[in-house]
Amino acid sequence: MSASWSLVIHGGAGRITRDVLTTEQDAGARAGLDAALKAGAAVLAGGGEALDAVEAAVRVLEDDPHFNAGRGACFTREGTNELDAAIMDGRDRRAGSVAGVTRTRHPVSLARAVMTASPHVLLAGAGADRFAIEQGLEQVDPAWFHTDERRRQLDELLSRGADAFDSDMKYGTVGAVACDMQGHVAAATSTGGVTGKRWGRIGDSPLIGAGTYADDRACAVSCTGSGEVFIRVGVGHEIAARRRFTGDSIQQAADAVLAEVRDLGGTGGTIVAAPDGSIAWSMTTAGMYRGRATSGGEHRVAIYADEG
Ligand code: ASP
Repeated sequence: MSASWSLVIHGGAGRITRDVLTTEQDAGARAGLDAALKAGAAVLAGGGEALDAVEAAVRVLEDDPHFNAGRGACFTREGTNELDAAIMDGRDRRAGSVAGVTRTRHPVSLARAVMTASPHVLLAGAGADRFAIEQGLEQVDPAWFHTDERRRQLDELLSRGADAFDSDMKYGTVGAVACDMQGHVAAATSTGGVTGKRWGRIGDSPLIGAGTYADDRACAVSCTGSGEVFIRVGVGHEIAARRRFTGDSIQQAADAVLAEVRDLGGTGGTIVAAPDGSIAWSMTTAGMYRGRATSGGEHRVAIYADEG
C-alpha cells in the first residue's frame, strides 16, 4: 500500500467557451466541481476506496443544477427526465448501471445497488425504477430534476422542427475516476442524456465499455460527448485496451481514441485514472468542466480547453 491517491472528475464537454457561459454559470460550475472534488478527495485521503470516492463525487454533481445529471438533467422531447448512470470497480470489473430512470435522486447509487444487490449489470426503465424502491433508495417527485435553463434548451430545440436533434445541446454529463491508496481504480458516470431524446434513447454513459469502464490491469475511464459515436467506438474499453496491449500512456491512449471518435464525426472528452496513480484528461471540444486532485497536493478545476 502507498499513501498516494488521485481523483479526476468531469461535468461534461461541448461548445463551452467564455462567450457562451455567463459569469454565474462559470462561477457556479467551478464551485460545483470544487465541492465534488472535495467530497471524493475526503474519501481517498481517509484511506477509503476508489469506488466510494467516485460515487461520493458524482452524488454532489447530481444534486447541482449546473450539470446534466440528477437535478438539472436535460429534458426528453416529452418534457420528462430520463436518467442514465453507471459505476464500475477495477478490482474485479464488477459493474452496475441504469438507464431511463425517473425518480431516483441519485442514479449513481442506484447503479451501485444494481452491482451489489442484483445478479445483473444493466436495468432500464420501469423495472429499474421499481428496483430503486425495493432497495430503499431516495425517491423524489420528478419535478425535483427540472430547471428553467434545461426547459429553455428543449423549447429552443423543438422550435427548430420535428426532426431536430442536436447532441451539442446539453453540456453537463458528470463523471469521476479515482485510484485509491491500495492502487485500485473505479469509474462512475451519470447523465440526463441529450436534450429532446425520444424512443427510450440510451447513450454511452450507462454502457459498460463505452462511457464507463474500470480495470485494475489498465485504468478507469468516464466519458462525455456524442454518445452514439462513443458507443460505436467503445471508448472506455478501447482506452483500457490500448493501455494494456500497447506501450501507450493513459494520456496517449485517451488522445488516440478521442481522435477516432472525431474521425467518425463525434466530439467529447474523457477522464482517466491508472493504478500507478497517473491521471489524464483529453477533449476534442472547446471546453470540458473538469477537476483533479491528488495526494501530492494538486487540487484544481478548469472549464476551457486552454486552461491546460
Ligand atoms: N454522452 C452523453 C449521452 O450521449 C451526453 C453527454 O455527455 O453530454 O447521453
